[in-house]
Amino acid sequence: MSVDREASGGPAYMDREALQNSQFDRLREGVSALLAGNAFYAEKLREAGVDAAEDLTRETYAQIPFTTKEELSADQDAHPPYGRNLTYPIDRYTRLHQTSGTTGRPLRWMDDAAGWEWFGKGWRAVFEGAGVGPEDRVFFAFSFGPFIGFWSAFEGCRQLGALVLPGGAMDSHQRLLSIVENEATVLCCTPTYALRLAEVAAEERIDLSASSIRVTIHAGEPGAALPNTRNLIEETWGAKCFDHAGATEVGPWGFECREQAGLHLNESEFIFEVIDLETGESASEGELVVTNLGRIASPVIRYRTGDFVRLSGALCACGRTYQRLEGGVQGRIDDALIVRGVNVYPSAIENVIREFPEVAEFAADVYRRGAMDDLQLRLEVTQGDGPAVARAVERAIRDKLGLRIESTVVAHEDLPRFELKAKRFYDHRVKGD
Ligand SMILES: [Zn+2]
Repeated sequence: MSVDREASGGPAYMDREALQNSQFDRLREGVSALLAGNAFYAEKLREAGVDAAEDLTRETYAQIPFTTKEELSADQDAHPPYGRNLTYPIDRYTRLHQTSGTTGRPLRWMDDAAGWEWFGKGWRAVFEGAGVGPEDRVFFAFSFGPFIGFWSAFEGCRQLGALVLPGGAMDSHQRLLSIVENEATVLCCTPTYALRLAEVAAEERIDLSASSIRVTIHAGEPGAALPNTRNLIEETWGAKCFDHAGATEVGPWGFECREQAGLHLNESEFIFEVIDLETGESASEGELVVTNLGRIASPVIRYRTGDFVRLSGALCACGRTYQRLEGGVQGRIDDALIVRGVNVYPSAIENVIREFPEVAEFAADVYRRGAMDDLQLRLEVTQGDGPAVARAVERAIRDKLGLRIESTVVAHEDLPRFELKAKRFYDHRVKGD
């Protein structure tokens, strides 16, 4: 059992009944403000029979209609520019961010000072879970644009008292130099970009495994939860690789402890449900639904994240009573592919490809052939015999996922490299087909 920084008497170690009671106490504290000032959620609360804070019980909570991203987006369209999900007058807000826009039009999100403090606190749990403390030097390979991404992690570091090293407006070479010169001990970036930095380091003959980086923390993509992607990052960086999950509109809801045994749900700051995709009933596997508890100024309640997850039944060896997700987020529900009758998430395909360190980058194209979907891979093979590696990848995907696919080898640096949310899957099927 590893020794964690957080005192074992903290909320992460509460018994579950006490934890759930404290969740509902927190939610109730915010409800009066929502009913008074938040047009978007006042409507939903009243629909569930919640007209005052004391009406909120576990029973009425279950009656509150779900919130979807489409709904929030439509609300911002109807009430531009920020929509109705604001609890206070606009001049109380201190930050504006927007989603990365990988799926549809970006969603704008405002925070007040208390909401931002809360967001940073969620990240503090991520750092503490990974054993990061005030003595650490944390490098952010992140562009610091309007996307909330690692801005909030930066705030988490401020709360922790660690040294922050911003890596915005730098290319990969400059970032590597900064990491080495400043003896950074922690790297925060997407899993894809950690591999990209490793590729550039290899070209420049910088030995990353000898660098001072001891921990890498990743968000934005499922990669750090995929065993083979994680192994590749840990080997190339000579560091422990930690997964994290969150979203602009939700906050930083998941973290890994040093057992690295799945993603812990931060149940001190959020209420979680998992619902069956078909029935909408409570299930151990399905879509993750989240309510945040400290962002009263711009909250989400019973928000359908679009993340497909699987709950682990067992308690974690770290002693925290928070539930865990097996293998992190399995994939985005909208991204699920049905290829020749086999249902598969892009992350499962990535995990198989990452068994092959010879493959520096890849892209996948999905086509409709008659009644079936067809998947073709483009592989950038930088070591060994390209066609032989491609055949081996095809075989591994057939053996492990039951998918028959075709692949072609493309030239080195032919495929795009990504700093934020990698796009590797291209859907060429006609929508509504
Ligand atoms: Zn744990």
